[in-house]
Amino acid sequence: MGHGELRGVVALDGPSGTGKSSAARRLAAALGARYLDTGAMYRAVTLAVLRAGVDPADADRVAEVVHAARVEQGVDPEHSTTALDGEDVGVEIRGPEVTSAVSAVSAEPRVRALVVAQQQAIIADALDGVGGVVVEGRDIGTVVAPDAPLKVYLTADPQARAQRRAKQDSASGRVSTVDATLVDVQRRDALDSSRAVSPLRPAEDAVRLDTTELDLAGVLAALLRLVDERGLVAEPSGRVR
Ligand code: C5P
Repeated sequence: MGHGELRGVVALDGPSGTGKSSAARRLAAALGARYLDTGAMYRAVTLAVLRAGVDPADADRVAEVVHAARVEQGVDPEHSTTALDGEDVGVEIRGPEVTSAVSAVSAEPRVRALVVAQQQAIIADALDGVGGVVVEGRDIGTVVAPDAPLKVYLTADPQARAQRRAKQDSASGRVSTVDATLVDVQRRDALDSSRAVSPLRPAEDAVRLDTTELDLAGVLAALLRLVDERGLVAEPSGRVR
């Protein structure tokens, strides 16, 4: 509380299990900003592909399904919502079927073009509205918001990431073990990092933050410091401090 208001875009990229989502949400909430979970949008279009009975490897049919799908991503950091064709799919997109297929679907360039355009429109809206938005994903600093005044690339040891991810899964009632999660996290990293279009990689001007030894409060404190150092925080009156 009492942090002031974010002005501009904060881009948070990195692989899964680095604490990105929790930190992004908390940062946005602390600074009166919007929060955009871009991974949820790729998950929602992946669900559309699976529901249509289309093989995620069938690029042409995947592109068709995604073109026809209507995804609405909410930007309230206290209550992030995802709807597919008008239906709330917030829980289903975190399930194992979507998680296994999402890297294949999101590697398709036509899918990325559609989803990125929608993300850029959501960001423009947020900047016109409250004035600040925290965006998390894999290609935010490199592709979606290359002009963001602050880009942070989060990393952590694979073991620490698998532990976090398994904990999140059991908190949401899904059965998972650290070992199985580690295999899944490494598989998705390999796919996300090796794809031809917008691979997972830090932007040249990104600040790297290793979260292996940090808890959520520690990550949040580091981000708040960076936002402040860049002069991206305004008093609620609008004056940049
Ligand atoms: O962040 P999350 O784990 O929900 O992302 C799910 C998947 O969506 C990633 O593994 C990646 O394949 C894809 N993704 C992406 N670009 C983004 C965000 C997510 O390709 N900006």
